[in-house]
Amino acid sequence: MSFTCRNQSCGAQWELSDVVIKNEGQGLLFRCPMCGARNYVERFESDDGTVVYEQLEGRPFQ
Ligand SMILES: [Zn+2]
Repeated sequence: MSFTCRNQSCGAQWELSDVVIKNEGQGLLFRCPMCGARNYVERFESDDGTVVYEQLEGRPFQ
């Protein structure tokens, strides 16, 4: 699974291990290591406890 920076002039692709996912108060996101753009993600946890993150198209609905 990989993420694509939503800054269209960047568009860099990152693996989960490349980025730091944190909550800055508007939902989970990572900042692109190349351009610093905010990329929002959603956290899912499977029954066996595996955590996966899915990239959102835009901002999470407030
Ligand atoms: Zn970027």
